[in-house]
Amino acid sequence: MSKFLITSALPYVNGVKHLGNLAGSLLPADIHARFRRQTGDEVLFLCGTDEHGTPAELAAQAAGLPVAAYCARQHAVQADIYRRFGLSFDHFSRTSGEANRRLTQEIFLALDAAGFIEERTLRQAYSPTDGRFLPDRYIIGTCPHCGSANARGDQCEACTRLLDPGDLLSPRSAISGATDIEFRETRHLFLRLSALEPRVREWLASRRGWPPLVQSIAGKWLQEGLRDRCITRDLDWGVPVPKPGFEDKVFYVWFDAPIGYIAAAIECRADWRDWWQADDVRYVQFLAKDNVPFHAISFPATILGSGLPFKLVDVIKGFNWLTFEGGKFSTSSGHGLFTDSALDWCPADTWRWWLAINAPEGSDSDFTVERFVDGVNKDLADVFGNLVNRCLSFAATRFDSTVPQPGEPGPIERKLAADLAAHLGRLRERHEALALRKAAEEVRAIWKLANAYLSEAAPWAAIAHDRARAATVVHTGINLVRIAALAAWPFIPFAAETVLGCLGESIAWPDPAAAIPAGRRFRVPPLLFPRISAACRPPA
Ligand SMILES: [Zn+2]
Repeated sequence: MSKFLITSALPYVNGVKHLGNLAGSLLPADIHARFRRQTGDEVLFLCGTDEHGTPAELAAQAAGLPVAAYCARQHAVQADIYRRFGLSFDHFSRTSGEANRRLTQEIFLALDAAGFIEERTLRQAYSPTDGRFLPDRYIIGTCPHCGSANARGDQCEACTRLLDPGDLLSPRSAISGATDIEFRETRHLFLRLSALEPRVREWLASRRGWPPLVQSIAGKWLQEGLRDRCITRDLDWGVPVPKPGFEDKVFYVWFDAPIGYIAAAIECRADWRDWWQADDVRYVQFLAKDNVPFHAISFPATILGSGLPFKLVDVIKGFNWLTFEGGKFSTSSGHGLFTDSALDWCPADTWRWWLAINAPEGSDSDFTVERFVDGVNKDLADVFGNLVNRCLSFAATRFDSTVPQPGEPGPIERKLAADLAAHLGRLRERHEALALRKAAEEVRAIWKLANAYLSEAAPWAAIAHDRARAATVVHTGINLVRIAALAAWPFIPFAAETVLGCLGESIAWPDPAAAIPAGRRFRVPPLLFPRISAACRPPA
């Protein structure tokens, strides 16, 4: 047994997230956590809402609530949606909690004592039209690297480079569109990433098994040379800076957010040090490609510089984008499908399945209602649902809802056993390699193998003249249903648990040798996946 620490990127607190957030971090992390638990590994799976920063302040203002109350409400809304999606976090935390506040300040003080914090006078964007300093995200302009016209002051989404607002060409206010941006002087604290660069470089070189997408983004960043980053902001809502002269400032949300991964463990586990300060733990992060620089560079640099003995990530599994009918999902423009309305339309398992087998791994994936409806009907209704239903219904009718005593396996069963063992071996390899799509494809291949066996062995024909042979096939078929459900469990846990419950089985890695004993009573589950139609989609 090994220990796996698994985190998903923390969804930002303002508003319900769209399917892209689910596809690019939350769901893959959950599937991997379930796989590891299934094989008997010890898992700590952590996530939470990222709650600091200007967007939360502005959203609270718009909702007419104090920001703390707004965040508490939105955290509860998101936690409920993720529970309904079957996301099996051991803890779903909040970065505005006391543990994160204390730990962020401790890490900062350690960095300061080690000489990696520098005080600088900064010229900061100020808009006379808006009457305020503009936080980075509220300045928009042209990216000096790729020329994208809508780069934000903190990052260009088009080329993923991190930016400072002063880098932007033709800057304007995102609040009012005003172009009369002035830069006024104010004092801030910088993390000396330039001084930490050799250590980050050496650490990155020691990592193994990272997907090419993540390697190339991190590599590009290092190639450009690390620039010192301002880690303080002129805001009220955030972790206060514990340094004389900076009482009116808070830490930049990107400084405290990843520390929230550690704080989440402190909140839920007395033995959190056995996870975050131990050598025998493998740490895997799941996140979308825009989050790679912070997780591959800034956060490791923060921990390395602090000298505190916290675990650094072993593998970052990064994802490309899920697009929505050819365009980008956008919360602000309402383009796409949101996680709450998705659940109003179809059960969680249907989304989990489609988003896993179409995961944006090697490249972006496009969601369309037609592709979703088609994929769900083909894979879940016609293949998995059909397998379970025709096998168990027949067995219930002809063998009195009791697993029959099998006879000797024939050549078809021997070939089946060899094929099944090969599929299960590959399934495990693909999970271990974090190859989500391929793992889902292997699960589907097992379902198809089971259906093909039943069609070939045809117990409904055998029963007329050879009841013993039919009993062998039905016994084999019921065990195939068990294996099909166990293999599917990380992907479609609700349906898998329904099937396994009907068979009196519990969750484990599928072992063909551990057959259900003859004589056990079973039930036939209700129709697992009624066919869906695009016409039933509720208005967005
Ligand atoms: Zn750019």
